[in-house]
Amino acid sequence: MKTIGMIGGMSWESSAVYYQIINRQMKEILGGSHSARSLMYSVDFAEIAEFQHAGNWTRLEKMMIDAAQKLEAGGADFIVFCTNTMHLLAAQIARSINIPFLHIADATGAAIQKANLKRVGLLRTKFTMEQDFLKKRLLVDFEIETIIPDETEREKIHSIIYNELVNGEIRGDSRKIYLDVIENLGLRGAEGIILGCTEIPLLVSAHDTDAILFDTTQIHAETASEFVLN
Ligand code: GLU
Repeated sequence: MKTIGMIGGMSWESSAVYYQIINRQMKEILGGSHSARSLMYSVDFAEIAEFQHAGNWTRLEKMMIDAAQKLEAGGADFIVFCTNTMHLLAAQIARSINIPFLHIADATGAAIQKANLKRVGLLRTKFTMEQDFLKKRLLVDFEIETIIPDETEREKIHSIIYNELVNGEIRGDSRKIYLDVIENLGLRGAEGIILGCTEIPLLVSAHDTDAILFDTTQIHAETASEFVLN
């Protein structure tokens, strides 16, 4: 069995979900009291969020490379970044280690392709919604087109993530805002919706909407469990 190296704490609310899904999945696959071998390097999210909002990606890159290298030195066989946003630094991290890096967009793209969808709506932090890097990866590698909410909606989505969800605050009025955005993306032609921030599934799930949801936390964590035995 391979050992998973998780870079977590962004936020710990969603890293806890990764840990749970991965271990439950291993138990399901192997039975009995099996669980996954794993290491987690968990950061102080307040510090990370401060650097993100200040645009200090150079500092963040150093911190993330340090975390990945420590996990490798500690015996991890591959790296999983328990967040979407910090995948902005995926290429630099993958280059800095000698073990595989399991990219969240690849896991998500494969799941959407399996569902046979071609055009999906994307909910994420502003840092990633407004940038091309994940959109491009989905388009080039999986032929999946993504559409994003309008500017006012993006502000609301972002603010709810950073002011509520990363602090474990789950509010009905915020869920309603997300559901309205999901509906609007559907009207604009989205055949499914990527919950592309690892905290969003804490707020919105398949019980709340008829839209086809792609929960990146679930998809990425399950892909990691399969990779453990691969
Ligand atoms: N966990 C979130 C994500 O998946 C946002 C927090 C962060 O900036 O890492 O993008």
